[in-house]
Amino acid sequence: MTWPVSLQIDAVDNGARTARALTAYRQFETPCFMPVGTRGTVRAVSMQDLEDIGFQVMLANAYHLALRPGAEVIAAMGGIHSFSGWNGAVLTDSGGYQTRSLAPVVDDNGVNFRSVYDGSMIRLTPESAVAIQELIGADIQMVLDQCPSLPAPIEVVKEAMLRTVEWARRAKKAHKREDQALFGIIQGGIDLPMRLESVQRTVECDFSGYAIGGLSVGEAHSEMLEVLEATVSMLPEGRPRYLMGVGDPVSLLEAISFGVDMFDCVFPTRLGRHGTVLSETGRYQLRRKENALEQGPLDPSCHCSTCMRWSRGYLRHLLMVKEPTAWRLISIHNLTWTNRLIIRAREAIRQGELSTLIKEVKEVWEMRDNGEGNPRNS
Ligand SMILES: [Zn+2]
Repeated sequence: MTWPVSLQIDAVDNGARTARALTAYRQFETPCFMPVGTRGTVRAVSMQDLEDIGFQVMLANAYHLALRPGAEVIAAMGGIHSFSGWNGAVLTDSGGYQTRSLAPVVDDNGVNFRSVYDGSMIRLTPESAVAIQELIGADIQMVLDQCPSLPAPIEVVKEAMLRTVEWARRAKKAHKREDQALFGIIQGGIDLPMRLESVQRTVECDFSGYAIGGLSVGEAHSEMLEVLEATVSMLPEGRPRYLMGVGDPVSLLEAISFGVDMFDCVFPTRLGRHGTVLSETGRYQLRRKENALEQGPLDPSCHCSTCMRWSRGYLRHLLMVKEPTAWRLISIHNLTWTNRLIIRAREAIRQGELSTLIKEVKEVWEMRDNGEGNPRNS
């Protein structure tokens, strides 16, 4: 028995919707952006910062937490909320995606890969991924999946899709915590019939929500959108839909217009640590010389704690001398900017004006069709 995340939909605008998602102990508004707390914190910022920005749900990586400090340690410390001091909802990623870059050897029963910490071999199975995430104790956990990089031969994509379906069934069977939601993951690359098969077989298992995986992994932006729209339209209306690893402004809004409710991406924080600032006029590099004497804020339209207090010139200085405070302050701005975009999308849906917002944002942010801008891991 898994916790059925109920979605109280309060407004719709064509395919898009705003809602309140209820987990066993917490709730959050959707559409929502989940900052990525890979190792139990979002890099360079604190839980207090995230709370002040207004985030209601964050993502943590079960794979990293299971290696350091260990799922048992987190359980002994009272679970991820009490351990990390985060009062909002938490979703844990199973680790399937992380193993992609760790020379994984996948068989029908699980995946072997090397630890990023000491190089030792680790085995993850559908059942052990569930057990680890039950110990960590997030509000929502994800099934173990296999996500091939694209482009890939159709047989490889199919094998990964069928394996993910089978692993989802096993995860559902293994899941014991009744106060925890479990999401299935749709795979199938950019092949529509394969996506359809993945949706049908995964929905049969009756999960608390559905994630759309295997997109933004090397395919063209236009292909991603076509597959995403078709996949979302096949998913049950009353369950949350989560698009994994996508976070550039235009893709977020387009996905919201199709009816996606949840997102995660390292885009705002990773860019921030490298000095790239998100703003109403697009993104820019703070390191550039012209910012050295700039007395205005990072973005004149932003009301985050960084923009309220510090100039571009000062923040550029911190960045140039590699002060960690720069990473924090710019990350706070980029996270606030992203959250504000999602809040604007919710407001636009309530007003029936999402398409106008998308047009405005597209004019500023021309999506480059090269897969850039969607880094998943921090
Ligand atoms: Zn700001």
